[in-house]
Amino acid sequence: MVLKAAEVLISKERIAERVDAIASEISQKYAGDSVLMIGILRGAAIFLSDLVRAIDPSVEVTMEFMKASSYGASTQSSGKVEISNGPTIDVRDRNVIIVEDIVDTGLTLKRLCEYFSASGAAKVEVCVLLDKRERRVANVPVEYVGFVIPDQFVVGYGMDYDEKMRNLPSIHVVREFAE
Ligand code: IMP
Repeated sequence: MVLKAAEVLISKERIAERVDAIASEISQKYAGDSVLMIGILRGAAIFLSDLVRAIDPSVEVTMEFMKASSYGASTQSSGKVEISNGPTIDVRDRNVIIVEDIVDTGLTLKRLCEYFSASGAAKVEVCVLLDKRERRVANVPVEYVGFVIPDQFVVGYGMDYDEKMRNLPSIHVVREFAE
C-alpha cells in the first residue's frame, strides 16, 4: 500500500478567501505599527508568502523563517520539538506572529511561543491555516485560524507527506492505495 493525495478537502479558492480575511484582521490590528511574521519551515512557506502580500501596506511587515519539526516520515507526532535558526532572529520588543501550517497536538506551537516570549518579544501571537482541534494536547492560544479540520492527514498548499505533495494548490486528504 502507498499513501497518496485523494479528494480535495479545501479548494485553492476557499484558501485564497480565508487568507485575505486573515490578512484583513492583521491589517486592522496592526495598522500604523510593525509586525515580525515568522514562518515555520517548510509547511508554512506558501501560506506566509500569500498572507504577507494581502496585508495592507500601512503595516510594516518583516519576515523570518525558522525550522521546528516534530514529524519525520510518519503521520504521527513524535512529541519532540526541535528548533533551529531561532537564535538568529532578534525578537526583542517586537510584535511577533508565528505562522504555522497546522496546529495538531499544539506541542510545536507551545514550545515556540515559550521560546519567543523568553527571548523578549513584546507580543507573541499565533496564526495557523489549519486547526485539528480535536487532537489538541497542549493549551496554546491561537489568534488567527484559517479552517478547523477533522483528524485527517492532509497535504498540499505547502504541507507534505515525507516531503512530497507540497506543490498541490489545494489541500487534499491522504489515503492508502494499492501499489
Ligand atoms: P503539533 O506539534 O502536533 O501541533 O504538530 C504540528 C506540525 O505537525 C505541523 O506544523 C505540521 O508540520 C505537522 N502536521 C500535523 N498534521 C499534519 C498533516 O495532516 N499534514 C502534514 N503535516 C502535519
